[in-house]
Amino acid sequence: TRADITYFGAGPAALPTDVLETAAQALLDFKGTGLGIAEHSHRSELATNIINEAKADLASYLDIPADYEVIFMQAGGTGEFAASVYNLVGAWVARQHAAIVAELGGASADEAAVVAALRERVQKDLKLDYIVTGGWSLKAYQEAVRLLGPEYVNLAADARTINDGKFGKIPDQSTWKLSKDAALVYYCDNETVDGVEFPEFPSVLAPRPDGTGPIVVADMSSNILSRRVPVSNYSLLFFGAQKNLGCTGVTVAVIKKSLLPPTTVQPSPALMRKLALPIPPIMLQYEIIAKNNSLYNTLSIFDVYIAGQVLKKLLSTYADKVAGQEAVSQKKSDIIYAALEAHPDVYRIVPDKTVRSRMNICFRVTKNGNVDETEKVFLKESTSQGLTGLKGHRSVGGIRASNYNSIPLEGAQKLAQFIEAFAKA
Ligand code: PMP
Repeated sequence: TRADITYFGAGPAALPTDVLETAAQALLDFKGTGLGIAEHSHRSELATNIINEAKADLASYLDIPADYEVIFMQAGGTGEFAASVYNLVGAWVARQHAAIVAELGGASADEAAVVAALRERVQKDLKLDYIVTGGWSLKAYQEAVRLLGPEYVNLAADARTINDGKFGKIPDQSTWKLSKDAALVYYCDNETVDGVEFPEFPSVLAPRPDGTGPIVVADMSSNILSRRVPVSNYSLLFFGAQKNLGCTGVTVAVIKKSLLPPTTVQPSPALMRKLALPIPPIMLQYEIIAKNNSLYNTLSIFDVYIAGQVLKKLLSTYADKVAGQEAVSQKKSDIIYAALEAHPDVYRIVPDKTVRSRMNICFRVTKNGNVDETEKVFLKESTSQGLTGLKGHRSVGGIRASNYNSIPLEGAQKLAQFIEAFAKA
């Protein structure tokens, strides 16, 4: 049964049982309306309340400042790889357009001259910077290249170059080749496949005292809600729900309002065509989704509801909100890593100690030399003891324990005990 299992899958991840029980009831009959939550109109008042409450609870839990907008989207983390490119290239073009119009005489500027100057500036100066530290930031980088062409995309750092062609380290910030006025600087805060997490916000990307600074975008799909986030250092952060927030189906984007109207308006499709730059599908355009309070089209209110219930549970569990969860997450990961470190003859932790993820604990079972066979035995025995979902990602193999918020402290302790016992057996 559910109660016998601790599930360490990387996503979809386990959800709290009481949240699922509440959601199961809501699916049948939401608040005595006779209709389930997945049947009610997304335009109903109750749907709007669910969205607004989830937004407010997220903002409260993470301490998101008032000059940020929270939106629910539907194309997963992968959709955000594209959305971040479209929207922030659009914002960059809008800024350059305004500057060129001003340089060429303001409202009376000749339109053809403006477009010609803008085209030149795009070709000369448009750059998107990517810090590649694992499989997911690599995918985001590749999506940017696919959408824009390699000439506009700068691989500012590639962690494989300092680690024998493999992920597992984060290149020193002093070596990052950042562009001047990049349309965005992108990184993945926690690499789910490779078990690499940024220990803290990269200081080289911090805003300057006058508030200006790089346009920082972060993928927080697999560590959001597990530690404090200096939100105001980012222009955009995003995360799929299916690890720490809820079930698969919604993706959250937190966007600095200055990147939305009235401050920034996405360039017209006609202008982007003249510049040979891509036009976003309307579903990926942040200003459209934000203007409609995430209801430009039919959104799965059920998924938002589950996320909302998870947030309510977190808020009622931790008086100090995400800081409370952060302490627990740290403790759980410390327990598991300590068990692995106690047996270096049996286990090899994959990433470098300085960048180990608290969320995805990746290791190899090297005992006996025959790693693949020993790992099969490890997985079989752990599964038989109710510790499931431990198989590493298909691209890298090995063992991966995903230590998301829904894993209780006792679950981490059980795994550590198993790691210990397996080493001694
Ligand atoms: N980013 C990270 C860090 C992820 O872990 C994942 C999925 N595991 C994604 C992006 C892609 O998310 P999705 O499958 O929702 O597109």
